[in-house]
This record gives sequence, structure tokens and C-alpha cells, in this order.
Amino acid sequence: SLPRVVIVGRPNVGKSTLFNRLIGHRVAITDPTPGVTRDPVEARWDREAGPVMLIDTGGYKLDHKDLDELVTLRSLRTLNDADCIVLVLDVTEITPEDESFIEHLRPYTERVIVAVNKVDHETREALVYNFHSLGFSRVIGISSAHGLGIQDLVDGITEII
Ligand code: GDP
Ligand code: MG
Repeated sequence: SLPRVVIVGRPNVGKSTLFNRLIGHRVAITDPTPGVTRDPVEARWDREAGPVMLIDTGGYKLDHKDLDELVTLRSLRTLNDADCIVLVLDVTEITPEDESFIEHLRPYTERVIVAVNKVDHETREALVYNFHSLGFSRVIGISSAHGLGIQDLVDGITEII
């Protein structure tokens, strides 16, 4: 079966926007309302480096409304089964929910790449530097909405798988 690349992060950081950007067309549903997620989404992503399954974890929430997203991730063994984990953060704010994701990803550090999203313009580029202190060796500033930094992210994923 194909290697699995799993996109994780709290609601509204831009997971689904990134998923669609990587796949090259709209599969995941994006919504400006935090926490709005719909169907679980997986799609085959035909990278230059070879095909993988790309998983947008935000979509699992609807089926598990009573569980928080982290519990859901664990119950689905999503992190254990991942060959690469893309942690999406928002360059404009880190919340306690982000910290919680960060701590849960510690056991998988070598598989993690941090995608600092919403780096829409150069003024935000300097802020990405702060995210290196989180303890993950791979940190890439991206703008999923505008397509910036995506190739660097793809290259980083290729280093992992
Ligand atoms: P998810 O909940 O993590 O799946 O986030 P979504 O992909 O649904 O995006 C949440 C909101 O952030 C939407 O309003 C998106 O348009 C917006 N968004 C996503 N990526 C970017 C980005 O690179 N820059 C900016 N400024 N907004 C973004
Ligand atoms: Mg989403």
C-alpha cells in the first residue's frame, strides 16, 4: 500500500487548503469557521517523487463529534500509521490547542515536518524563525492560500519518505 502523509493541526490553521493545494484540485472542504469539518478526506497524491496517500485529519471530526480531535487521531491510529506527519500551524498565533498537538507529536519527531501556514507576504517570513524553537528539525513557512513555500514543503516530505 502507499506511504501515508497525514496533515494534522487544530481547526482553522489551513489543513484543508493545504490538502487541496497539494492534490491540485479541491477535494477537502475549507471553511472560515473554526471547527467546521466534514467528511474524512484521503486522496492519492501523485508526487514527482512517487505516489502517496494524503490524509486531511480535520475531516474525521464529524464522525466523532463527542471526541476532541487528538483523541480521535489516537483512536484511529492515524499518527502511528503515518510515514510522514505534516503539522500545520498558523504563523499569526499559537494556541494551547497547538501546544497540545506539538506534545502529542513528540514520539514521532523524525517523521514530522512543521508547515507554518499563512506566511502570505515577506513581512511574515521573519516570524517563521520563532517556530524552530518547538523542537522539530524541519520547519517550512508556507502560504497554502497563495501557493508560497509549497515546493520547499514537498521537498521536505521527500526527505522523510
Ligand atoms: P482547517 O480547518 O485547518 O482545514 O483550515 P481551512 O483550510 O478550512 O482554512 C481555514 C481558513 O484559513 C479559511 O478561511 C482559509 O481560507 C484560511 N487560510 C488557509 N490557508 C491560508 C493562507 O495561507 N493564508 C491565509 N491568509 N489564510 C489561509
Ligand atoms: Mg479542514
